[in-house]
Amino acid sequence: MFKLGVMGGTFDPIHNGHLVAAEGARDELALDKVVFVPAGKPPHKPGHDIADPRDRYIMTGLAIASNEFFEVSSIEIERPGPSYTVDTIQSLMDRYPGAEIYFITGADAILDIITWKNFEKLLSLCFFVAASRPGYPLDKLRQKVSAFIEYPERKILSMEIPALAISSTDIRRRVLAGKTIKYLLPEPVEDYIARHKLYRR
Ligand code: ATP
Ligand code: MG
Repeated sequence: MFKLGVMGGTFDPIHNGHLVAAEGARDELALDKVVFVPAGKPPHKPGHDIADPRDRYIMTGLAIASNEFFEVSSIEIERPGPSYTVDTIQSLMDRYPGAEIYFITGADAILDIITWKNFEKLLSLCFFVAASRPGYPLDKLRQKVSAFIEYPERKILSMEIPALAISSTDIRRRVLAGKTIKYLLPEPVEDYIARHKLYRR
């Protein structure tokens, strides 16, 4: 059976935390492929100005180029209106008929997801993989998840990955403050941000 990983995110910008989570899941679950899906207009992310979807898509492509198992998809950024994960999973199921789908998230994001209104539906379509993330302990996550669903261990897998206290928010702040972002994300992405003067306001 074809095992497809799906790594969703705003990727504003993509960084090494995303890559380590996706590669950890690929390795641990023997995934055949991981598709990175940059979000179009994230319904759950008001608050800050999000970089142009095209820039986020290109940066994601640059970041994953060296991994033969990784791919980037423009399905969410091409779809008009807000992006819903259920729609994304469904169109990936059409594109990869019969594939077993693993939606990869950080331990923080899974907690948001289980409170979405379509979560039941989502849970019937795919598995979830929650990667450890500094500040979001996995054991606490398990407790919270079990308050929402029965037998969460069947559908929600958790995975320890090397801790990287990196976030896109911190990277944007650093750029704005003129601080270095070297080694927090792949060099081609760093170069792209500099060349296109992203996150300078
Ligand atoms: P922002 O600060 O803008 O929210 P972010 O760094 O959280 O950005 P997202 O695009 O929101 O990045 O995250 C996409 C997915 O990657 C989410 O499931 C998130 O939990 C996960 N993720 C992000 N950073 C890490 C990290 N350092 N370790 C593990 N998972 C991460
Ligand atoms: Mg986030």
